[in-house]
Amino acid sequence: KAGNKTICGDDAFQLYYTFGFPLDLTELMARERGLKVDTELFVKLMDQQKERARAAQKGVSLAASLSNVQLPATDDAAKYQTDSCQGKVLGWVTSEGFTAEGEFEDAHKPAALVLDKTCFYAESGGQVGDEGLIRGEDWEFIVEGTEKVGNCVLHKGRLHRGGVAAGDVATMQVYQDRQASRKNHTATHILQWALQKVLGDSVKQQGSAVCPDYLRFDYTWPKGLTPEQSAEIQALVNQKIAEGLPVTCVSLPIEEARKLGAMALFGEKYGDVVRVIGIGAPDKDHFGEAFSKEFCGGTHVSNTSEIGGFGIVKEESVSAGVRRITALTGTKLVDYLMGRNAIVDELVGMLKVPADQITSRVAKIMEDNKSLAKQLKSGAAAAASAQVSADDLLARSSRQGATVVVAESIPALGADQARGLIDSLRAKAGSAVVVLGMADGDGKVMLFAGVTDDLIKKISAGDIVKQIAPIVGGGGGGRPQFAQAGGKDPSKIDEALRTAKTFITGKLS
Ligand SMILES: [Zn+2]
Repeated sequence: KAGNKTICGDDAFQLYYTFGFPLDLTELMARERGLKVDTELFVKLMDQQKERARAAQKGVSLAASLSNVQLPATDDAAKYQTDSCQGKVLGWVTSEGFTAEGEFEDAHKPAALVLDKTCFYAESGGQVGDEGLIRGEDWEFIVEGTEKVGNCVLHKGRLHRGGVAAGDVATMQVYQDRQASRKNHTATHILQWALQKVLGDSVKQQGSAVCPDYLRFDYTWPKGLTPEQSAEIQALVNQKIAEGLPVTCVSLPIEEARKLGAMALFGEKYGDVVRVIGIGAPDKDHFGEAFSKEFCGGTHVSNTSEIGGFGIVKEESVSAGVRRITALTGTKLVDYLMGRNAIVDELVGMLKVPADQITSRVAKIMEDNKSLAKQLKSGAAAAASAQVSADDLLARSSRQGATVVVAESIPALGADQARGLIDSLRAKAGSAVVVLGMADGDGKVMLFAGVTDDLIKKISAGDIVKQIAPIVGGGGGGRPQFAQAGGKDPSKIDEALRTAKTFITGKLS
């Protein structure tokens, strides 16, 4: 702009945000024209934009309604020391913004309480925000999540009972699960150390999620862990847990922290003074001796033994060159392993082998299954070729006048197949009486009889079956055209068929 030696940060931001024009190019072109860029405002606007984007991602964030509001600061130093503390209500945030006026008593409206002090840990650095309860003299507010906007801690949730007013004294209680989050967070630091120890220093953290139920750690590595690498990493972490090492926290000028070799998350912005978590140093004076040193604002156990065990439950790819480990600690790990153990016990019962032989037994079963399937296939083919056809039976039949008489023992068929065979015999012969006997190999006998319509005044299939079924130790019956019976003595099938023949001859003559 004419008469102005500075390009406003707002303009630089618009160039970048709306047109994708990078700041360094704006600065370069400005310098060529003897102008300066207000980068301070640019950085501030960028931060606000990031905050808005983050809030939009979470969906339920109330931060969006606060972009231009001056919020009171919350002293949250207690979050590292205690799960319970007292404070004073300063106001509350709803979709309309922050207020300290009147009384808040709408139990259905999502809201966030703001207090002068808190022991709730706000979501940051991959560790989820605390959940818990805030209680006044005659009200209760359930905290479903905690978020920090500037220096203000928002206790997000809903009013459970009563009404809140600014000035009310409140008691805060973080739900106990936070101890589980602490275990998982410290374990995440040890895991990063172990990964670098086994895979090399090129492994870099890409993100992490720490919550009461599990921990997740993303890192740069081109391929999946081998079973040996995974076992070694887990053994290293568990060794550090078993050693019962102290976890210390110091605040240091950022340069000093970097000199100590403390790991920072790439791309993350830090202040002049940083909080560094060290594992394995006897005390703060010997902080340099810690085997793991990380820039970190999270909550941790005070001794690694509290973690109570570590186990990887999943290893997967998240994107090209980035892997993800999901792991469990403490009682969650024990629960998981007990669940696995129950499955092993069940398999031991089913397979009737000791646990250490399950895999070889299952491999054997799979192998057997394969060869049985092969046998079954060739068996079915053989059975198909052995099957008698209506033509075969017709060729072997005898005649009484114009009537074809079949009384044969054949390989076992299903009821539908037997019926089909009899139907096709009846159709081919025109006038026929058919009796088929078969044994299924398990000691069961089946008898089927069929009569063509022209003969049913003389002889009935039901009668034939009734005559011969008792011979094979069974019974049955049916309609004049078709009947069937079962029995249990296969050695008597031929006798039954001879009897049938005699019966048929008598009836037809
Ligand atoms: Zn951390």
